[in-house]
Amino acid sequence: MQVIKEYVLNKKERIKKELAGKAPLKMVIVQVGHVPASDRYVRNKAKDAAEVGIDCEIVNIPETTTEDELLTLLSGLNCDDTVTGYLVQLPLPKGISEEKVKLAITPDKDIDGFHPLSKTVPATPLGVYNYLKDMNYEFQGKNAVVIGRSNIVGKPMAQLLLKESMNVTVLHSKTKEEDKAFYLEHADLIVVATGHQLTLNANYTLKPDAVVFDVGINVGEDGKLCGDCESNLPVAFQSPVPGGVGLLTRMSVIDNLIELAKL
Ligand code: NAP
Repeated sequence: MQVIKEYVLNKKERIKKELAGKAPLKMVIVQVGHVPASDRYVRNKAKDAAEVGIDCEIVNIPETTTEDELLTLLSGLNCDDTVTGYLVQLPLPKGISEEKVKLAITPDKDIDGFHPLSKTVPATPLGVYNYLKDMNYEFQGKNAVVIGRSNIVGKPMAQLLLKESMNVTVLHSKTKEEDKAFYLEHADLIVVATGHQLTLNANYTLKPDAVVFDVGINVGEDGKLCGDCESNLPVAFQSPVPGGVGLLTRMSVIDNLIELAKL
């Protein structure tokens, strides 16, 4: 496995060359209010877009924006032919339904892949999947364990791995501890997306050649970012946090935009 930071740099170079000389694509990021973590994500996504030659506009509207006002803005973006694709940065302020917002983004322009009829795949599982494909990972017949069953990470991740003929087990908060230990012991590929630190830790017996993707983003007691897995697990590869799945997710937003431009 290549270091994810290096992989992303190479991939950006590849995309930049692919887009050079073509009509520029336009991405819009809608941000409601300011949450420090979201500010950083939005800035990074805009920077990634600029680096590969995609026009990116950040539409930052006040925290006091109502749900109706936001939905009106989204219908405008849905009809704007100059916009290739857009996303709404989550979380949203209280009083605005994330579900309604996800459904208001036309599937034709949904670069996060959150709409149930979206023509794209949710960016986080797509990022992990594309990375594995680019690393020529041999999926077929191997055991995958996905911990977490959300609509934007766990479920689409499981679907992508199933499509590659893996034996996929999805665990969740109701999984019994002894079952979790059993499945993990036999897992070749583990994707952890629970939002809880140490969901995967060194107390579990893991295959030494297992590959682990840590999707979680948590703030540890020391105030630093950490994932859902204990660091330095005794496996062949473990994606770091930060500098791991977050970078792959950002790449997929761009992949999705390019995909929508082709459709
Ligand atoms: P979510 O919607 O809260 O879903 C969490 C899932 O984990 C649920 O299915 C839940 O089970 C399961 N779960 C919770 N505690 C568990 C435990 N102790 N053992 C096993 N399963 C458990 O979260 P999400 O949107 O999928 O995100 C998960 C994490 O990934 C969060 O930290 C989020 O910030 C992070 N994330 C990172 C990126 C990135 O770019 N790196 C992108 C998206 C999300 P139930 O269904 O039974 O409740």
